[in-house]
Amino acid sequence: MKLPIFLDNHSTSAMDPRVLETMLPYFVEKFGNAASRNHAFGWAAEEAVENARKQIAKLIKADPKEIVFMSGATESDNLAIKGVLEMYGEKGTHIITSSTEHRAVLDTIKALEGKGKITVTYLAVDKFGMVNPEDVRAAITEKTILISVMLANNEIGTINPVKEIGKIAKEKGVLFHCDATQGVGKIPVDVQEMGIDLMSFSAHKMYGPKGIGALYVRKKNPRVRIVAQMDGGGHERGMRSGTLPVPLIVGFGKACELCEQEMATDTARLITMRDRLEASLMKALEESYLNGHPINRLPGNLNISFAYVEGESLLMGMKDIALSSGSACTSATLEPSYVLRALGVGTELAHSSIRFGLGRFNTDDEIDYTIKKVIEVVTKLRDMSPLYEMAKEGVDLKSVQWAAH
Ligand SMILES: *Cc1c(COP(=O)(O)O)cnc(C)c1O
Repeated sequence: MKLPIFLDNHSTSAMDPRVLETMLPYFVEKFGNAASRNHAFGWAAEEAVENARKQIAKLIKADPKEIVFMSGATESDNLAIKGVLEMYGEKGTHIITSSTEHRAVLDTIKALEGKGKITVTYLAVDKFGMVNPEDVRAAITEKTILISVMLANNEIGTINPVKEIGKIAKEKGVLFHCDATQGVGKIPVDVQEMGIDLMSFSAHKMYGPKGIGALYVRKKNPRVRIVAQMDGGGHERGMRSGTLPVPLIVGFGKACELCEQEMATDTARLITMRDRLEASLMKALEESYLNGHPINRLPGNLNISFAYVEGESLLMGMKDIALSSGSACTSATLEPSYVLRALGVGTELAHSSIRFGLGRFNTDDEIDYTIKKVIEVVTKLRDMSPLYEMAKEGVDLKSVQWAAH
């Protein structure tokens, strides 16, 4: 086993070596521009791009013509939201989203809202982080042009009832955008069955290269149109100009193919490891609380709050394991994760949360090491905590009168 251990697969994933292998010829040997229509270099590049487009479309049950290449999910979320508003803004300017969306969606929407271009309904989620489809229905007005709800959350892994939301969107004739960045390649995604009109996803979250992602844009029932946010050569059927990064696209295609072929075995392995990690930590460490949905959750996700322990201190105490905490102590505000707050998790417990993100390359040995280390460091930190001591002695901490500084 090699240290440090990478358990932060929601932030990015290691590229699969098989992906790299398929990319390599496209840097030096087959370097053509896929838009060069009149020579063999261009033809070879175009063929590789179209092959990747097929591999990607197949994974999400789309038509290859519905895949538009982007630099990643952030750009894809931006284009979906701004592109729809610019195309359909005369019909209305109301957008429905949820309070636990990724910043790529929330910040885009907030920016438009701040400029007075749209009105927004931010749907609350339940204690597991799930959007209620009936809340979506109730929020729709005549002015609603877009619903943007994510497939799976990047912090707590909760999977939304996207199919039900898609059905309501269709019934009401409102477009449905889904940020599926955490879900594609990990759980089955079918844009038809889920009634998705626009979908954002990214290669580097699914063992592909960084710097490439896609926007799925439905071509029929209904035919969705968006206004490009990048002017240039009219690439990607006019929706995203710019020379295509052929090696990245080839890698993205291969990553999708591998996910499709190995999803069942990856999922089974991840669930076994994740459940063992969860059960071992919960058993050894009292006052540990699971954040997110106990069942309806990404196979590689585990988010736990260890009461009386600062997430950041915990991470500092185990630098040989790469993890994330729900504490943003580096930011000026000291605000904990807005996702956890949206579930109703208190400030203290939100600051005590750790996100374990397991992926394809994690091993049982790494999980063993992590279990041992987390138990050791949490125990040590609690032993040093006066609050934990008081709580153990039965003092109701809420009743304590803290001295003012
Ligand atoms: C990582 C992530 C993004 C951003 O993706 P990039 O490709 O890094 O721009 C957007 N949404 C979700 C849910 C994510 O997890």
